[in-house]
Amino acid sequence: MRISYSSLENFKNCPLKYKYSEIDKIKESKTKEAIFGNYIHRVLKWFYQQDPHFPPLEGLLEYYYNHWPASAKPACRQGRATAGEPKKEEGFTWQDEQEEKDYFQEGMRMLEEYYKKNFPPKSMIMDLETRFEAVIDETPDEPGGKHILTGVIDRIDKLADGTMEIIDYKTGKRMPSQNDVDTNLQLSIYALGLQRKWPKIKLEDLRLSLYFLKFNEKIETKKSQEDIENTQKKIIDLIHQIQNSSFEPKSSPLCNWCGYRPLCPVWRHFYENASEKKFNGINIEEKIDEYFKLREDKDKIEEQLKELKNLIEVYSHQKGLKRIFGNNGYFNQEVTNKISFDKNKLKEILEPLGKWDEILAIDAKKLQKIIKEIPPTAREEIEKAKKVEKEYKYLEANNTTKKELEEELH
Ligand code: SF4
Repeated sequence: MRISYSSLENFKNCPLKYKYSEIDKIKESKTKEAIFGNYIHRVLKWFYQQDPHFPPLEGLLEYYYNHWPASAKPACRQGRATAGEPKKEEGFTWQDEQEEKDYFQEGMRMLEEYYKKNFPPKSMIMDLETRFEAVIDETPDEPGGKHILTGVIDRIDKLADGTMEIIDYKTGKRMPSQNDVDTNLQLSIYALGLQRKWPKIKLEDLRLSLYFLKFNEKIETKKSQEDIENTQKKIIDLIHQIQNSSFEPKSSPLCNWCGYRPLCPVWRHFYENASEKKFNGINIEEKIDEYFKLREDKDKIEEQLKELKNLIEVYSHQKGLKRIFGNNGYFNQEVTNKISFDKNKLKEILEPLGKWDEILAIDAKKLQKIIKEIPPTAREEIEKAKKVEKEYKYLEANNTTKKELEEELH
């Protein structure tokens, strides 16, 4: 199988997204975050291509303005000189002038801060947008067990002490922890790709960095041979998952950036027109609103019932009454006990009867809690030991409004 790092990542995040992109070959509509991120990458690539005649900050921002992917007005440039009108990006328009202006200024800020922190450069640029192909031989003795993993590394530098550095730019709004970066699959795959491309490079001489442009911070990590071997295992495992997948959608906050929303069964209904939402002449949208209205009323009633019960309980307690009467019914005081057993005694009785294992059934809730506290390797092993006994489908109600959802989507 030939697969790129980004497709593996797509599959991990959502198998259905992988299917749309890699199997059905449906072109994903671009989100503004993707357009913006790609554009910043393009500007930085151009900038480093000017090595050794790097332009001054003005020159970098000039390029940024002149190739901006849409219709930014010169007013966005905060009074800088212009060398022409900005370019239009095919198939993409900003929602409104304010949104475009905000993104434009954010990009300008990122580049200015990046320039001030990183220039003059302290390293030698070795390569930009480096393509790699790593062969992963799953079954070396059998034909057909080979997989080819492909990827593109944003930048490779050689540092003054002779070490090499892989740098990948990120334009997202979240900065991960050092631990997230240490366990980042993308960087492990890049190290693997680089090792295959230039076998003489030693892992101990290789730094792997993610540069978070929004925060102007770089987080570095290193990889060992053991990490690389584990990465290969993870890739093979993911490839097996792809080969056996039914490509179910996996809804997550990443849906906000997914261009397949109008197709996908999780989001399609959100984009359907009024006539498509009719069902046997019934307006289903109105019925859903009716459901949430009734649920709100039910919640209020339940709250009132709780308050009334509390009051009645206080009354019966103060009066020392076991039973209290109204015209439509009465309350009776009942007693229940919380029971526990002597575990050893219980084992003694039940084990000979072959019933001890039955009561030791795994408590899924407790396991979920424990999983968060144990090391990642043990967590992965537990993940592998998981099997689906039975699938239940049910509808879960969520009271996020349409307006709130529209604000979250990119
Ligand atoms: S919208 Fe979400 S669930 Fe649907 S394909 Fe995209 S990522 Fe998957």
